Amino acid sequence: RKIVIAIDGFSACGKSSTAKEVASQLGYSYIDSGAMYRAVTLYFHQNYVTIDNPKEVSKAIDNINITFNFNERKASSETYLNGLNVEEEIRKMYISNQVSAVSAIPDVRKNMVSQQRKLGKKKGVVMDGRDIGSNVFPDAELKIFMQANLKVRAERRQAELLEKDQLVPIPEIEENLLARDKMDSERKENPLIIPEDAYILDTSELTLPEQVEYVLQLATE
Ligand code: C5P
Repeated sequence: RKIVIAIDGFSACGKSSTAKEVASQLGYSYIDSGAMYRAVTLYFHQNYVTIDNPKEVSKAIDNINITFNFNERKASSETYLNGLNVEEEIRKMYISNQVSAVSAIPDVRKNMVSQQRKLGKKKGVVMDGRDIGSNVFPDAELKIFMQANLKVRAERRQAELLEKDQLVPIPEIEENLLARDKMDSERKENPLIIPEDAYILDTSELTLPEQVEYVLQLATE
């Protein structure tokens, strides 16, 4: 029996690495909901969309098409914005610094959530984000909420960025993570909350294989 696995939590707690690996081991599809908000943010940035102008925002949303394609060579799924591969661009700091403001816009959320629900219709899916268990799939069979201490999160994120040749100082990363946690938790529409029926996983002292094992255990119980 295939299920829906919702993985939520604060920024940079290991959600996507865990979700990706769990999906691959179960033969499920993996959907990175944060990548969708990042792609919208990139579009807004490239097209000078004023985020407090509802008309501009709604016109922009109509022109945005986000898809995922599996890259065989990298064995991972990549994000496409209107047919262009934006996987690398959306991970950059200037996007991280704007994404929480964009994702708080009600029209943006409404649109993304409805696309996410469609993507999860066929079961056998692992989706990670902030409001997946609480809002996108309240009936998900398995909900995980991930957290970790700030130092570990910033160090992991710095290592990821370094792999892409971006050297970002730890304090700058910490500032971004804290700012996003705050905005994501305090926004009106679908804020980041711990779903009542979620298993809480603190990854501060865990390796990736341990995190994956924890979720797989619960998924196959
Ligand atoms: O997961 P990631 O850190 O890439 O997400 C980027 C941002 O997208 C988050 O900080 C949050 O503002 C937004 N987001 C959201 N709801 C989700 C996933 C991400 O608001 N389900």
